[in-house]
Amino acid sequence: MLSRAFQCRDCGGLAGYRSRRRNFVEKYLLPLLLLRPVRCGDCFRRSYRLILVPVRERNEPGVTDSAAA
Ligand SMILES: [Zn+2]
Repeated sequence: MLSRAFQCRDCGGLAGYRSRRRNFVEKYLLPLLLLRPVRCGDCFRRSYRLILVPVRERNEPGVTDSAAA
């Protein structure tokens, strides 16, 4: 059965955070499959979850995707 809430498969943590899309697959293919990378806030394991699964925004002050470099 599909779970609507994030739970880490490794440590069972419930705090999921959006993770950066790092490569072609994550940028272009995952969205087509309604998936996105999510990082566990407890053990930092990355995994893919449905975009329907609510996760927290990364909240890092002063850091934006376009301001890197
Ligand atoms: Zn975890």
